[in-house]
Amino acid sequence: MAKPYYDILGVPETATEAEIRSAYRAKAKKYHPDLNQGDEQAADMFKKVNEAYETLSDPQKKAAYDKPAGQGFGGARAGGAGGAGRGSFFDDFVNMFDTDARESGGGGDISLNVTLTFEEAAYGVQKDVSVTRNEPCAACRGTGAKSGTQYAKCNACGGTGKVRFAQETPFGRVVSMKACSACGGSGKIIKEACPACNGRGHVRKNVNLRITFPAGIEHGQIMTVPGEGEKGKHGTKPGNLVLMINVMPHKIFRRKGLDLSVDVPISFTQAILGDKILIPMLKGTKVAFPLPEGTQNGTVFKLKGQGIENVKKGVTGDLLVTVDVEMPKNLTKEQKAKIKELSELIKPDQYDKIKEFNRR
Ligand SMILES: [Zn+2]
Ligand SMILES: [Zn+2]
Repeated sequence: MAKPYYDILGVPETATEAEIRSAYRAKAKKYHPDLNQGDEQAADMFKKVNEAYETLSDPQKKAAYDKPAGQGFGGARAGGAGGAGRGSFFDDFVNMFDTDARESGGGGDISLNVTLTFEEAAYGVQKDVSVTRNEPCAACRGTGAKSGTQYAKCNACGGTGKVRFAQETPFGRVVSMKACSACGGSGKIIKEACPACNGRGHVRKNVNLRITFPAGIEHGQIMTVPGEGEKGKHGTKPGNLVLMINVMPHKIFRRKGLDLSVDVPISFTQAILGDKILIPMLKGTKVAFPLPEGTQNGTVFKLKGQGIENVKKGVTGDLLVTVDVEMPKNLTKEQKAKIKELSELIKPDQYDKIKEFNRR
C-alpha cells in the first residue's frame, strides 16, 4: 500500500523526481483556489497536495518519509498485507494528535497569491508582500489581560494548562494529555480582559513582509515562508505563509523550466540566402546569429546557456529560437515577373520535400 503522500499525488513510490513534479503540477492546477472559489474540499486537497510535494520534492525529507516507521506500534510500515491496514490507521492516529496541537492555540497558515512578471520570476526579485494576520496585542503583550490586572488559576486544569483525556483505539484505551480548552493551555484565567484586543491577546494587523523570490521560480509553484502565518497566542508556534506563484506571460518569450523559447520571423530571401540575424535576449540585448542558407520554416536553433539561470543549482537553460519564414505580400507586377523568372531557374530536384512527396 502506498504512503499517503504518494496517494495524494497519485504516483507510485517508485516515481522519479520528474514524475512527482509533473503529478504535483497537474494536481495543484486542479485544486488551485483560483479555479475552485469557495470549494472547501478543493482547498483542503490543495493544501494536502502541497504538503505532499514539499516532502517528496526534497530528497532529504523524502528519504526520511520513505524509511519504514521502525519501532512504534510494531513497525506498521514493514509492509505485507497485514501491516498495511495498520499503517494507514497509524497515520490517522498521528494526524489526530497534530490537530489537537494546532487547536490548542498555534497559528494557522495564510495562503496568498503573488503575481510576478516574467522577468522577476526569471531573475529573482525581492518584493514586499502585504499580509493581514493576527499579531500579538501590544497593549497586553499578547496575554489578553488588561495591563496591571491579575490572573486567576484556571479551575479546569488546576493551573497546569493540560487535561487528561482518554481515547478508545484498537490498541485499547489510550490516555494522554491535551491542552486545556478553558484556559487555552496557559493555566491562567484572565480577571479583566484587555480592552485593546477584548482579551484575545492578538489583534488583526496588516504587515509588509520583504520576500525573496529565487531566480527560476515557476508559475504554479508554492513557496512556504515558515512562521509568517497567523501568530499564535501566548508565544505558541506561528503558522506558515503559503505563497502561490503566478507568473505573467511575456510578449515574445515563452518558458519551460529554465529553457526560454522565442519565434523569430525572417524573410523568405533571408531563409534562402542565409543572413546574420539579431536574436532578442530576455535581458533586452540582442545577439547576432548566423542563419545558414536554405533554412526551412519552423527550424529550431538552440542557443546554449542563453536561458534562465538557477543560481542555487548552478544550472542555466537554453534559448530555443524557432524560425518563422514570412512571404511578402502585395507584390508588384515587376516583382512577380522577376520571381517567376527565378522560379524557372530553380530545378525541381532542389526541393527535397517536393521531390520526396512526388516520388511516393
Ligand atoms: Zn490586548
Ligand atoms: Zn485550564
